[in-house]
Amino acid sequence: MSITVVDHALAAHLLAQLRDQDTPPPLFRTLAKRLALTLALEAIRDLPTSEVPVRTPLESTTGRTLGDLVAVPILRAGLGMLEAVTELFPEVAVGYIGLERDEASLQPQSYYRKLPPVRGRHVLVLDPMLATGGSGSAATGAVKEGEPASIRFVCVVSAPEGIERMGSDHPDVPIYTAAIDRQLNDQGYILPGLGDFGDRLFGTE
Ligand code: URA
Repeated sequence: MSITVVDHALAAHLLAQLRDQDTPPPLFRTLAKRLALTLALEAIRDLPTSEVPVRTPLESTTGRTLGDLVAVPILRAGLGMLEAVTELFPEVAVGYIGLERDEASLQPQSYYRKLPPVRGRHVLVLDPMLATGGSGSAATGAVKEGEPASIRFVCVVSAPEGIERMGSDHPDVPIYTAAIDRQLNDQGYILPGLGDFGDRLFGTE
């Protein structure tokens, strides 16, 4: 399996502010979007491109164009990363997978799935916190049913437990993250982490 920890001064700067418990939801949303931009840029770095003719004001030349891209945020926290991708790549198709964690079993329960056709397309699965890996693995499995050309998993913070789960269930899916944290606590939260990403994003604490 492959994991890329985005090693960029701006990503580190944004992540430190996201982690800060005093960062209020409006600022949290802005920071999350900016950090997702840096992660998405890294995740699409090696996507295949095809040659297109371009006419400049001076002469004809060629350029490269990106292929079909699909973004799939896992509801609800993944919504905090979506705008970064739609701004970078306005032609992106967007699908949604709703998974919530059963607080007793810590297992993901599916409550919504709406995916565009993904066959032959490149998919970014967006989920900011790769904790147990249960949701990430379930969402990735759901996307695989549509036979995409590739899947990349993009998260803000990852835990060793989640990385291991993704590596064992989906070794073909590379992970892009801003940090690998120490461990999960017994409620399944990442330590040191940043708390509940969805609550902090939407002010539902
Ligand atoms: N989901 C979160 O929002 N935070 C965690 O630490 C783990 C899962």
